[in-house]
This record gives sequence, structure tokens and C-alpha cells, in this order.
Amino acid sequence: MKTGLTYDDVLLVPQYSGVRSRSEVKLHSELAEFIKLDLPIVASPMDTVSECKMANRLSQLGGTAIIHRYNTITEQTTIVASLPDQVKVGAAVGVSGDYLDRALSLYEAGADFLCVDVAHGHHILMKEALTALRKILPSRFHLMAGNVATLEGFNDLADWGADSVRCNIGGGSICTTRIQTGHGVPGLETIFECAKSDRDTKIIADGGIKTAGDIVKALAAGADFVMLGSLLAGTDESPGETFTGNCGELRKVYRGMASSTAQQDWRGKVASQEGVSSSVPYKGPVATVINELVTGIRSGLSYSGARTIKELQLKAKWLKQTNAGIIESSDHVRLIK
Ligand code: IMP
Repeated sequence: MKTGLTYDDVLLVPQYSGVRSRSEVKLHSELAEFIKLDLPIVASPMDTVSECKMANRLSQLGGTAIIHRYNTITEQTTIVASLPDQVKVGAAVGVSGDYLDRALSLYEAGADFLCVDVAHGHHILMKEALTALRKILPSRFHLMAGNVATLEGFNDLADWGADSVRCNIGGGSICTTRIQTGHGVPGLETIFECAKSDRDTKIIADGGIKTAGDIVKALAAGADFVMLGSLLAGTDESPGETFTGNCGELRKVYRGMASSTAQQDWRGKVASQEGVSSSVPYKGPVATVINELVTGIRSGLSYSGARTIKELQLKAKWLKQTNAGIIESSDHVRLIK
């Protein structure tokens, strides 16, 4: 049986570096010919992460957001249409019901790309949806799709018309898919696998990313972008109000879109419950979070002697770590007697 590795199982080995300053490191990444971004960061299409404010601010900071689909077509279209021209923004659609009307409405409102957003993307409904979307949208319009957990899934979605694919099933911080269904593949393993593809399709490492170090590992393993949920939740720009937690601290709700409360809110009933509703500490402006992450990512590239993401992918040397290594890699001052 194969072993699946994830972020905490591995480390990048430090290498000789000619990078004199972190400012020499460039983190630009290209989603499409017309979607060139300064940062390889995409905000997840979730109702506690990505609406108007997140899209606006993240775009100013160099990344992009995908407006979630847990609303009416008019509500989602209004958000997309309200964004200034220069903001690069994506918008999510499903694979059934009114998704084609939604897609056309979002396209006409100025969405720069669409994301076909389902839990199990390697599926006949995805094939039918991508085929139908390709017929109604211009051929060069960027379609993201997912999620998948395997190279076969990645290649199929690419062949069905996806230009970028969200990779990882069951790894999200609010996700209970693996508990509920017994299915999934550790997140970084999926990136290593999908990076073997010969398709010219972008890899989006989605879910389970907790730190700047995890972002560096995802990029080094072959991802073109990372998709973030929990790291961006709890900011001023994420939807929802702050509330006071048990210890008097400010918090904001962060919930899986397959949690019972989210399903109840957006479709009035609960099917398979594969996520939880939780909360994260209030973090202030998203710019603070992004700036901290970017500092760590730049430093990470420098440790591998790389000035660009492509260079990092060529140079990366990996090491599996043991449980003792994992403890040593985290802050462990509490263990010192
Ligand atoms: P995080 O960055 O680890 O918090 O993970 C965010 C990712 O979790 C999203 O981009 C989705 O791929 C995934 N996700 C969102 N909601 C759910 C859910 O309810 N169940 C399972 N996965 C989810």
C-alpha cells in the first residue's frame, strides 16, 4: 500500500543561497495569459472568506479571490459587477440547477475566471458541466475546476476543459470528508502526484495550509497557486461580524460549506455533512496576514537558493521527517524542564 505524505511529514533541505535580500525574491504566478498576479494566493470561495471586501483588498495586495456561490445569481453577480475594473476576480458556480445561467451572468458582469466548485470533482457531473461551459463561454476564458485527489482526476478535468484544477480532497481545516466517507489523499501527496501531469494546466493547492512554510512546500511540490480558507478567515475583509469568545477575545465564524449550518442557510436542508462550523481569532486587516505570509514565503525561497517559484520547483530537495522531527520543527519550549 502506498504512503501519502502531507505538509508536516516533510521538510525542504536548506541549500546554498546567493539571494542577498528577500526583496530579490519574486512571487508572481500566472493563472492565465490575462491573469498575471504578483502573489500565488487565491481566497477560497466560501461564505466566511470571499466576498466584495476580500476580493478588493486581496487584489490590491497581489492575489485574487473567488466570490462564493452560496447566494442568488443576482447577489453574486452584483458583487462581481461592483468591483473596479482593475480587480482580477473569480466567481464560483456549481454543476447542476441554474449553473449555466449563473455562469453567463457572472461572465457578463466581468468575472475574470469561473471556478466550477464541487467537493468531488472527478465526476460525471463535472465532465458534463465543463463540456457545457466550454460551449457557452469564449474558448480562452479561464475555467478553474475541482476538487481532485489524484493524477487521473487532474488529467481528466484538464481534458474536459479545465485550465486550472483545485487539488486536495479532505484536507481543509473545517473538513470532515475523510471522517465521514473514509476517502481522501493527504494534501501534499496530491500536489506531488498532479505535478507529474503532462497537461498544461495550473495546479491550485487547496486546503490544509496552516503556515507560510506550508505554502512554500506546496509551491515547491509543483503548485502554481495556493488556495486559502482559514488563514484569510477572521480578518476585517472576510464576511461576518466579530463576537466575543469565552476568554474575552474577539473571534469570527469560519465554516465549511458542507457544514450543517452552511447547508441549512443556503439550501434549507442538510445532506451529507462533510464540514464543521467553527471560529477563528479576529486577525485585523488581511494586509497584515498577507504581509506576514509573504515575508515567510520569500524567506523560504531564499533557504532553497531560489528567486522565483519556478526556480524553487527545480531546486527543491525533500526530506521525510519522523515524529521526533515534527516535534522539533514546532515550537517546543514547553517541553523543556
Ligand atoms: P483551509 O484553508 O484548510 O481552511 O481549507 C479551505 C478549503 O476547504 C476550501 O478551499 C475547500 O476546498 C475546502 N472546504 C470548504 N468547505 C468544506 C467543507 O464543508 N467540507 C470539506 N471541505 C471544505
